[in-house]
Amino acid sequence: MSLQSQAPLAFEFRTYLSAPSCPRCGNHVMAAEASEFLPDGHIRHSWACESCGEEFQTSVEIADVTTPSLPA
Ligand SMILES: [Zn+2]
Repeated sequence: MSLQSQAPLAFEFRTYLSAPSCPRCGNHVMAAEASEFLPDGHIRHSWACESCGEEFQTSVEIADVTTPSLPA
């Protein structure tokens, strides 16, 4: 029950799941068709434009994915 942890979480969701515009027609694509976690610390989203059918991908780097959570 901490309000302090909710703001950064919302920011992270907005960053990772932000909806892009179609590179062909500029339509705002609302939901990714698929998302996959890559071992190099990225999330790759696959998008399909509902307006023109263009398919494209975006990649978001996840910060601190390789940072150990406990001291060695
Ligand atoms: Zn489009």
